[in-house]
Amino acid sequence: MKFYTFSSGGGNSNDRFSGLRFWLTTFLVVWGLSFLGLGWIVNSVFILIGVLVAIPIIGAIALQWWLSRSIVTSSCPVCEHTSTATVNSQFYCPSCGEPLQVENRKFARISIPGTIDIQVETID
Ligand SMILES: [Zn+2]
Repeated sequence: MKFYTFSSGGGNSNDRFSGLRFWLTTFLVVWGLSFLGLGWIVNSVFILIGVLVAIPIIGAIALQWWLSRSIVTSSCPVCEHTSTATVNSQFYCPSCGEPLQVENRKFARISIPGTIDIQVETID
């Protein structure tokens, strides 16, 4: 086993210090760069996570907003069956087969031309 000795007879302490300073500087530069690099990576990871978290939330909000604008949930005026339909669409009631259209976010019977549509309102 060999032990390292500060060899060859004295007076080289100056070189030792410059060597130490060199390694210290190198360490500081490497540490600084890695710190900056890691900081950048950490930041971008956080931004990425934020974006990845934000996109579904924004998407869900946008989808909900779009759905609330374009999809109407109401009840059939004939049989009171609740169903959903897109705005400005015509469809048949899935319960009673009545042709319906969406008017003012409510379902209304499609009045057939030539027939008089009488709306009966019961007032209690
Ligand atoms: Zn119906």
